[in-house]
Amino acid sequence: MSFKADPLLGTVSTLLADDSASVEDLRAGLAALLQRCTDQERLLERVTRLSDGFQRAERDRGADYLKHYLNEVKRVEKIVRISDRYQEMLRELNSRLTCMANTDYLTSLENRRFACEQLESALDLARRYRRPLCLAVIDIDFFKLVNDRFGHHVGDQAICAVAKLLAQSVREGDLCARWGGEEFLLIFPATALPEAFSLVEEVRQCVAAANLPVDDRTSLNFSVSIGLAQFDGRELAHELIRRVDAALYQAKRSGRNRSQVAG
Ligand code: GH3
Ligand code: MG
Ligand code: MG
Repeated sequence: MSFKADPLLGTVSTLLADDSASVEDLRAGLAALLQRCTDQERLLERVTRLSDGFQRAERDRGADYLKHYLNEVKRVEKIVRISDRYQEMLRELNSRLTCMANTDYLTSLENRRFACEQLESALDLARRYRRPLCLAVIDIDFFKLVNDRFGHHVGDQAICAVAKLLAQSVREGDLCARWGGEEFLLIFPATALPEAFSLVEEVRQCVAAANLPVDDRTSLNFSVSIGLAQFDGRELAHELIRRVDAALYQAKRSGRNRSQVAG
């Protein structure tokens, strides 16, 4: 502030410049100046106190925010951990459900639903790459008699015994499924008739040679009939299945315990 704008500074400045100014006048001027300094010092102290208080409050508020923020981070981390666990459980549950949906309860082989899906995709590949594919249906002979004579439980055991034998016989990449009741489906991708025929014949002979113990004294011997066809390169799944069924029917009519290739 300039001397001109401040009357007190102006007065003191004039007094100091005036050689004739009396000591009383100078003292009065200096006293007023001292009062002014004292007042300003007090004011400054007050402002400083206020500013310190304000800064403290801001610091506390910042610390509260940080604490709140860290708590929120912890909470979100916990939620993420729980959600990860749930997702893991859902994934496991999903794969178990898929497995159950595709598996036959009695034999643990793949079921008809899965076999149908696999057949469609195997046929797609066979068409695209012009590769051979063979399909077989295996049916236990006179199975009703097994049930009638030894009971349903032994019938179930016979179905499981055939399933086990089939699962052991198929090659990697082949599919063996329970088609229904006492019938099984075999898919042989990239396989032509001669090879498929010897594979199913092997299965048929194994079943015919096997004995299923029923009790201490009795063991069950039974056979299977097999219908087999090679994909003609164009037909649809149900048309191929129809030809295999017809071959199976022929095998039954020709005396059972045989493998019949579709015409
Ligand atoms: P074929 O030689 O002509 O095939 O005669 P089959 O007696 O085997 O044929 P049929 O179709 O007359 O009988 C099949 C029987 O299989 C009838 C049904 O009660 C029985 N069956 C179907 N599913 C099961 C099953 O899961 N367990 C048992 N124990 N029997 C079953
Ligand atoms: Mg049948
Ligand atoms: Mg049968």
